[in-house]
Amino acid sequence: MAFELYSLVRKNIRSLIPYSSARGEYGGDARIFLDANENAFGSPLGNLYNRYPDPLQTGIKDRLAEANNIMPSQIFIGNGSDEAIDLLIRIFCRPGIDNILICPPTYGMYEVAAGINNIAVKKANLTADFQLHPETITGHIDENTKVIFLCSPNNPTGNLLKREAILALTENFQGIVAVDEAYIQYSGKPSLTEKLKDLQNLVVLQTFSKAWGLAGLRVGVAFASEEIVAFLNKVKPPYNVSEFAQLAVAEALQNKEMVQKTIELTIFERKKLETALKGFRCVRKIYPSDANFLLVKVTNAADMYSYLLSERIVVRNRSNVVLCEECLRITIGTPEENQDLIRAVGIYEKSFIH
Ligand SMILES: *Cc1c(COP(=O)(O)O)cnc(C)c1O
Repeated sequence: MAFELYSLVRKNIRSLIPYSSARGEYGGDARIFLDANENAFGSPLGNLYNRYPDPLQTGIKDRLAEANNIMPSQIFIGNGSDEAIDLLIRIFCRPGIDNILICPPTYGMYEVAAGINNIAVKKANLTADFQLHPETITGHIDENTKVIFLCSPNNPTGNLLKREAILALTENFQGIVAVDEAYIQYSGKPSLTEKLKDLQNLVVLQTFSKAWGLAGLRVGVAFASEEIVAFLNKVKPPYNVSEFAQLAVAEALQNKEMVQKTIELTIFERKKLETALKGFRCVRKIYPSDANFLLVKVTNAADMYSYLLSERIVVRNRSNVVLCEECLRITIGTPEENQDLIRAVGIYEKSFIH
Protein backbone atom coordinates (compact mmCIF):
# COMPACT_ATOMS: atom_id res chain seq x y z
CA MET A 1 0.00 0.00 0.00
CA ALA A 2 1.42 3.35 -1.01
CA PHE A 3 1.90 6.02 1.65
CA GLU A 4 -1.01 8.45 1.75
CA LEU A 5 -0.13 11.72 3.43
CA TYR A 6 -3.40 13.56 3.07
CA SER A 7 -5.56 11.09 5.00
CA LEU A 8 -2.94 10.93 7.76
CA VAL A 9 -3.27 14.66 8.51
CA ARG A 10 -5.85 15.69 11.10
CA LYS A 11 -9.03 16.94 9.43
CA ASN A 12 -8.98 20.33 11.18
CA ILE A 13 -5.39 20.89 10.01
CA ARG A 14 -6.25 19.97 6.42
CA SER A 15 -9.06 22.53 6.36
CA LEU A 16 -7.26 25.14 8.47
CA ILE A 17 -6.90 28.59 6.97
CA PRO A 18 -3.50 29.68 8.28
CA TYR A 19 -2.84 33.14 9.72
CA SER A 20 -1.87 35.45 6.94
CA SER A 21 0.86 37.77 8.17
CA ALA A 22 1.63 41.16 6.68
CA ARG A 23 5.15 40.13 5.68
CA GLY A 24 3.93 36.76 4.42
CA GLU A 25 1.23 38.24 2.20
CA TYR A 26 3.37 40.77 0.40
CA GLY A 27 6.21 39.16 -1.55
CA GLY A 28 7.17 42.04 -3.85
CA ASP A 29 9.82 44.72 -3.71
CA ALA A 30 8.11 47.55 -1.82
CA ARG A 31 9.60 50.96 -1.06
CA ILE A 32 7.61 51.85 2.05
CA PHE A 33 6.24 49.38 4.59
CA LEU A 34 3.17 50.68 6.40
CA ASP A 35 1.47 47.30 6.67
CA ALA A 36 2.60 45.70 9.94
CA ASN A 37 2.30 48.36 12.66
CA GLU A 38 6.05 48.33 13.29
CA ASN A 39 7.92 51.31 14.73
CA ALA A 40 9.36 53.03 11.67
CA PHE A 41 11.68 55.16 13.86
CA GLY A 42 13.59 52.14 15.03
CA SER A 43 14.66 51.03 18.50
CA PRO A 44 17.50 51.62 20.95
CA LEU A 45 19.33 49.09 18.75
CA GLY A 46 18.86 51.22 15.63
CA ASN A 47 17.09 49.85 12.56
CA LEU A 48 18.24 46.24 12.77
CA TYR A 49 15.26 44.60 14.43
CA ASN A 50 12.32 46.96 14.07
CA ARG A 51 10.82 44.92 11.22
CA TYR A 52 9.17 41.51 11.48
CA PRO A 53 11.44 38.70 10.26
CA ASP A 54 10.97 36.65 7.09
CA PRO A 55 8.30 34.09 8.09
CA LEU A 56 9.83 31.47 5.80
CA GLN A 57 13.52 32.09 6.59
CA THR A 58 14.51 32.12 2.92
CA GLY A 59 18.10 33.18 3.60
CA ILE A 60 18.82 30.16 5.77
CA LYS A 61 16.91 27.69 3.60
CA ASP A 62 18.73 28.61 0.40
CA ARG A 63 22.08 27.95 2.04
CA LEU A 64 20.91 24.76 3.75
CA ALA A 65 19.36 23.48 0.52
CA GLU A 66 22.63 23.83 -1.30
CA ALA A 67 24.66 22.22 1.49
CA ASN A 68 22.27 19.26 1.75
CA ASN A 69 21.49 18.83 -1.94
CA ILE A 70 17.78 19.29 -1.37
CA MET A 71 15.09 21.80 -2.43
CA PRO A 72 14.39 24.78 -0.12
CA SER A 73 10.73 23.70 -0.16
CA GLN A 74 11.76 20.49 1.63
CA ILE A 75 13.15 22.42 4.61
CA PHE A 76 11.28 23.61 7.69
CA ILE A 77 13.02 25.89 10.20
CA GLY A 78 11.78 25.88 13.77
CA ASN A 79 12.33 27.60 17.09
CA GLY A 80 14.65 24.69 17.99
CA SER A 81 13.95 21.20 16.69
CA ASP A 82 11.67 20.88 19.72
CA GLU A 83 9.19 23.04 17.80
CA ALA A 84 9.22 20.59 14.87
CA ILE A 85 8.61 17.68 17.28
CA ASP A 86 5.57 19.46 18.72
CA LEU A 87 4.21 20.45 15.30
CA LEU A 88 4.52 16.91 13.91
CA ILE A 89 2.44 15.62 16.81
CA ARG A 90 -0.15 18.35 16.35
CA ILE A 91 -0.45 17.84 12.59
CA PHE A 92 -0.87 14.05 12.65
CA CYS A 93 -2.23 13.05 16.07
CA ARG A 94 -5.80 13.58 17.27
CA PRO A 95 -5.81 14.35 21.02
CA GLY A 96 -7.26 11.53 23.09
CA ILE A 97 -7.37 9.18 20.09
CA ASP A 98 -4.00 8.76 18.36
CA ASN A 99 -0.59 7.75 19.70
CA ILE A 100 3.11 8.06 18.95
CA LEU A 101 5.74 5.37 19.36
CA ILE A 102 9.16 5.92 20.90
CA CYS A 103 12.08 3.59 21.65
CA PRO A 104 13.40 4.19 25.20
CA PRO A 105 15.86 5.03 26.49
CA THR A 106 15.64 8.14 24.32
CA TYR A 107 15.25 11.92 24.22
CA GLY A 108 12.60 13.08 26.70
CA MET A 109 10.88 15.75 24.59
CA TYR A 110 8.92 13.30 22.38
CA GLU A 111 6.98 12.08 25.40
CA VAL A 112 6.56 15.57 26.89
CA ALA A 113 5.30 17.02 23.59
CA ALA A 114 2.85 14.10 23.30
CA GLY A 115 1.71 14.64 26.89
CA ILE A 116 1.04 18.34 26.30
CA ASN A 117 -1.11 17.41 23.32
CA ASN A 118 -2.94 14.58 25.13
CA ILE A 119 -1.43 11.96 22.84
CA ALA A 120 -0.65 8.49 24.22
CA VAL A 121 2.90 7.16 23.99
CA LYS A 122 3.72 3.56 23.04
CA LYS A 123 7.13 2.39 24.17
CA ALA A 124 9.15 -0.26 22.35
CA ASN A 125 12.39 -0.41 24.32
CA LEU A 126 15.73 -0.66 22.57
CA THR A 127 17.70 -3.90 22.91
CA ALA A 128 20.49 -4.28 25.52
CA ASP A 129 22.97 -2.89 22.98
CA PHE A 130 20.62 0.05 22.32
CA GLN A 131 19.41 -0.98 18.86
CA LEU A 132 15.87 -1.13 17.47
CA HIS A 133 13.94 -4.33 18.08
CA PRO A 134 11.69 -4.57 15.00
CA GLU A 135 9.29 -7.21 16.39
CA THR A 136 8.71 -5.22 19.58
CA ILE A 137 8.02 -2.10 17.53
CA THR A 138 5.62 -3.89 15.16
CA GLY A 139 3.89 -5.43 18.17
CA HIS A 140 3.16 -2.00 19.64
CA ILE A 141 1.93 -0.27 16.48
CA ASP A 142 -1.84 -0.02 16.06
CA GLU A 143 -4.10 1.81 13.58
CA ASN A 144 -3.86 4.98 15.69
CA THR A 145 -0.05 5.09 15.74
CA LYS A 146 0.69 8.14 13.59
CA VAL A 147 4.29 9.09 14.30
CA ILE A 148 7.35 7.04 15.29
CA PHE A 149 10.23 9.05 16.78
CA LEU A 150 13.69 7.54 16.42
CA CYS A 151 16.87 9.22 17.60
CA SER A 152 20.15 8.43 15.83
CA PRO A 153 22.74 8.94 17.30
CA ASN A 154 20.51 8.32 20.28
CA ASN A 155 20.36 10.50 23.37
CA PRO A 156 21.26 9.45 26.12
CA THR A 157 22.96 6.26 24.85
CA GLY A 158 25.19 7.94 22.24
CA ASN A 159 25.04 5.28 19.52
CA LEU A 160 23.76 5.36 15.96
CA LEU A 161 20.79 3.12 15.22
CA LYS A 162 21.41 0.69 12.38
CA ARG A 163 20.51 2.41 9.13
CA GLU A 164 18.96 -0.70 7.54
CA ALA A 165 16.64 -1.15 10.53
CA ILE A 166 15.44 2.48 10.31
CA LEU A 167 14.86 2.20 6.57
CA ALA A 168 13.02 -1.13 6.83
CA LEU A 169 10.74 0.27 9.53
CA THR A 170 10.05 3.43 7.51
CA GLU A 171 9.27 1.46 4.34
CA ASN A 172 6.77 -0.74 6.16
CA PHE A 173 5.02 1.91 8.26
CA GLN A 174 1.99 3.83 7.02
CA GLY A 175 2.55 6.78 9.36
CA ILE A 176 5.39 9.27 9.79
CA VAL A 177 8.89 8.22 10.89
CA ALA A 178 10.81 11.15 12.37
CA VAL A 179 14.52 10.48 12.73
CA ASP A 180 16.18 12.92 15.11
CA GLU A 181 19.76 13.51 13.96
CA ALA A 182 20.69 16.15 16.55
CA TYR A 183 24.17 14.57 16.86
CA ILE A 184 24.73 13.28 13.30
CA GLN A 185 27.82 15.46 12.70
CA TYR A 186 29.72 13.57 15.41
CA SER A 187 29.00 10.15 13.88
CA GLY A 188 31.00 10.48 10.67
CA LYS A 189 28.06 8.84 8.90
CA PRO A 190 25.81 10.37 6.23
CA SER A 191 22.44 11.85 7.14
CA LEU A 192 19.24 10.06 6.16
CA THR A 193 18.26 13.19 4.19
CA GLU A 194 19.61 11.36 1.12
CA LYS A 195 16.70 8.89 1.49
CA LEU A 196 13.98 11.57 1.38
CA LYS A 197 13.42 11.11 -2.35
CA ASP A 198 12.50 7.45 -1.81
CA LEU A 199 10.60 7.71 1.46
CA GLN A 200 7.58 10.04 1.48
CA ASN A 201 6.90 9.39 5.18
CA LEU A 202 10.40 10.22 6.42
CA VAL A 203 11.18 13.37 8.41
CA VAL A 204 14.80 14.10 9.38
CA LEU A 205 15.32 16.46 12.31
CA GLN A 206 18.55 18.37 12.82
CA THR A 207 19.50 21.31 15.01
CA PHE A 208 21.90 24.22 15.34
CA SER A 209 22.07 23.55 19.09
CA LYS A 210 24.81 20.89 19.16
CA ALA A 211 27.64 20.67 16.60
CA TRP A 212 26.90 24.16 15.25
CA GLY A 213 27.37 25.52 18.76
CA LEU A 214 24.28 27.77 18.67
CA ALA A 215 22.00 26.37 21.38
CA GLY A 216 21.21 29.89 22.58
CA LEU A 217 19.70 30.93 19.25
CA ARG A 218 16.99 28.23 19.20
CA VAL A 219 17.06 27.10 15.59
CA GLY A 220 16.14 23.58 14.46
CA VAL A 221 15.51 22.02 11.07
CA ALA A 222 13.14 19.41 9.67
CA PHE A 223 13.88 17.94 6.24
CA ALA A 224 10.92 16.16 4.60
CA SER A 225 8.76 15.97 1.49
CA GLU A 226 7.43 19.29 0.14
CA GLU A 227 3.95 18.24 1.25
CA ILE A 228 4.93 17.57 4.87
CA VAL A 229 6.93 20.82 5.00
CA ALA A 230 3.89 22.70 3.69
CA PHE A 231 1.83 21.39 6.62
CA LEU A 232 4.57 22.34 9.11
CA ASN A 233 4.58 25.87 7.69
CA LYS A 234 0.80 26.03 7.82
CA VAL A 235 0.68 25.23 11.54
CA LYS A 236 3.74 27.07 12.86
CA PRO A 237 3.50 30.51 14.50
CA PRO A 238 4.07 33.02 11.66
CA TYR A 239 7.31 34.53 13.01
CA ASN A 240 8.73 31.49 14.79
CA VAL A 241 12.41 32.29 14.12
CA SER A 242 13.63 35.75 15.14
CA GLU A 243 15.53 38.08 12.82
CA PHE A 244 18.51 37.89 15.17
CA ALA A 245 18.57 34.09 14.90
CA GLN A 246 18.12 34.15 11.12
CA LEU A 247 20.99 36.60 10.59
CA ALA A 248 23.26 34.69 12.95
CA VAL A 249 22.57 31.27 11.42
CA ALA A 250 23.05 32.62 7.88
CA GLU A 251 26.43 33.96 8.96
CA ALA A 252 27.42 30.76 10.79
CA LEU A 253 26.61 28.73 7.68
CA GLN A 254 29.45 30.59 5.91
CA ASN A 255 32.03 29.05 8.22
CA LYS A 256 31.52 25.32 8.15
CA GLU A 257 35.29 24.82 8.44
CA MET A 258 35.34 26.19 11.98
CA VAL A 259 32.45 23.88 12.94
CA GLN A 260 34.26 20.92 11.41
CA LYS A 261 37.30 21.73 13.55
CA THR A 262 35.26 21.75 16.76
CA ILE A 263 33.69 18.43 15.74
CA GLU A 264 37.15 16.90 15.26
CA LEU A 265 38.35 18.35 18.58
CA THR A 266 35.28 16.95 20.33
CA ILE A 267 35.83 13.46 18.91
CA PHE A 268 39.51 13.58 19.89
CA GLU A 269 38.57 14.66 23.43
CA ARG A 270 35.86 11.98 23.58
CA LYS A 271 38.49 9.30 22.94
CA LYS A 272 40.85 10.83 25.50
CA LEU A 273 38.13 11.04 28.15
CA GLU A 274 37.03 7.48 27.44
CA THR A 275 40.58 6.19 27.91
CA ALA A 276 41.06 8.14 31.14
CA LEU A 277 37.71 7.11 32.65
CA LYS A 278 38.35 3.45 31.81
CA GLY A 279 41.26 3.56 34.28
CA PHE A 280 38.99 4.10 37.30
CA ARG A 281 37.53 1.24 39.36
CA CYS A 282 34.34 3.24 40.00
CA VAL A 283 33.73 3.26 36.22
CA ARG A 284 32.17 -0.04 35.19
CA LYS A 285 31.37 0.54 31.57
CA ILE A 286 31.60 3.20 28.88
CA TYR A 287 29.16 2.75 26.03
CA PRO A 288 30.37 3.37 22.46
CA SER A 289 29.52 6.93 21.39
CA ASP A 290 28.79 8.49 17.99
CA ALA A 291 27.88 11.78 19.71
CA ASN A 292 29.44 14.57 21.80
CA PHE A 293 28.84 12.80 25.10
CA LEU A 294 29.60 9.54 26.86
CA LEU A 295 27.15 7.30 28.70
CA VAL A 296 29.13 5.94 31.63
CA LYS A 297 28.02 3.18 34.00
CA VAL A 298 29.52 3.69 37.45
CA THR A 299 29.35 1.85 40.78
CA ASN A 300 27.03 4.44 42.33
CA ALA A 301 25.67 7.11 40.01
CA ALA A 302 23.83 9.16 42.64
CA ASP A 303 26.92 9.25 44.84
CA MET A 304 29.33 10.23 42.08
CA TYR A 305 26.85 12.76 40.72
CA SER A 306 26.62 14.58 44.05
CA TYR A 307 30.38 14.45 44.56
CA LEU A 308 30.90 16.08 41.16
CA LEU A 309 28.25 18.69 42.04
CA SER A 310 30.19 19.50 45.21
CA GLU A 311 33.10 20.21 42.87
CA ARG A 312 30.67 22.38 40.89
CA ILE A 313 30.82 20.02 37.91
CA VAL A 314 27.39 19.19 36.49
CA VAL A 315 26.81 15.99 34.56
CA ARG A 316 23.47 14.34 33.81
CA ASN A 317 22.33 11.54 36.10
CA ARG A 318 20.41 9.09 33.91
CA SER A 319 20.16 6.24 36.43
CA ASN A 320 16.37 6.47 36.63
CA VAL A 321 16.07 5.88 32.89
CA VAL A 322 15.23 2.38 31.61
CA LEU A 323 18.36 0.36 30.57
CA CYS A 324 20.58 3.14 32.00
CA GLU A 325 20.82 2.01 35.64
CA GLU A 326 23.77 3.67 37.46
CA CYS A 327 24.61 5.69 34.36
CA LEU A 328 25.84 9.25 34.04
CA ARG A 329 25.76 11.12 30.76
CA ILE A 330 28.83 13.28 30.41
CA THR A 331 29.09 15.94 27.69
CA ILE A 332 32.54 16.39 26.15
CA GLY A 333 33.97 19.74 27.22
CA THR A 334 37.15 21.64 26.40
CA PRO A 335 40.47 19.85 27.14
CA GLU A 336 40.74 21.87 30.39
CA GLU A 337 37.20 21.02 31.48
CA ASN A 338 37.67 17.33 30.74
CA GLN A 339 40.98 17.31 32.63
CA ASP A 340 39.26 18.93 35.59
CA LEU A 341 36.54 16.26 35.49
CA ILE A 342 39.14 13.47 35.36
CA ARG A 343 40.96 15.02 38.33
CA ALA A 344 37.68 15.17 40.30
CA VAL A 345 36.82 11.54 39.50
CA GLY A 346 40.35 10.61 40.64
CA ILE A 347 39.84 12.30 44.02
CA TYR A 348 36.39 10.70 44.33
CA GLU A 349 37.85 7.26 43.64
CA LYS A 350 40.63 7.69 46.24
CA SER A 351 38.64 9.32 49.03
CA PHE A 352 35.59 7.08 49.21
CA ILE A 353 34.96 3.42 49.88
CA HIS A 354 32.63 2.07 47.22
C1 LIG B 1 19.66 18.47 22.11
C2 LIG B 1 18.69 17.69 21.32
C3 LIG B 1 17.80 18.31 20.47
C4 LIG B 1 17.89 19.80 20.28
O1 LIG B 1 16.72 20.44 20.40
P1 LIG B 1 16.68 21.99 20.04
O2 LIG B 1 15.28 22.32 20.38
O3 LIG B 1 16.97 22.11 18.58
O4 LIG B 1 17.70 22.69 20.88
C5 LIG B 1 16.93 17.56 19.72
N1 LIG B 1 16.94 16.21 19.82
C6 LIG B 1 17.80 15.58 20.62
C7 LIG B 1 17.82 14.12 20.67
C8 LIG B 1 18.68 16.30 21.41
O5 LIG B 1 19.52 15.65 22.22
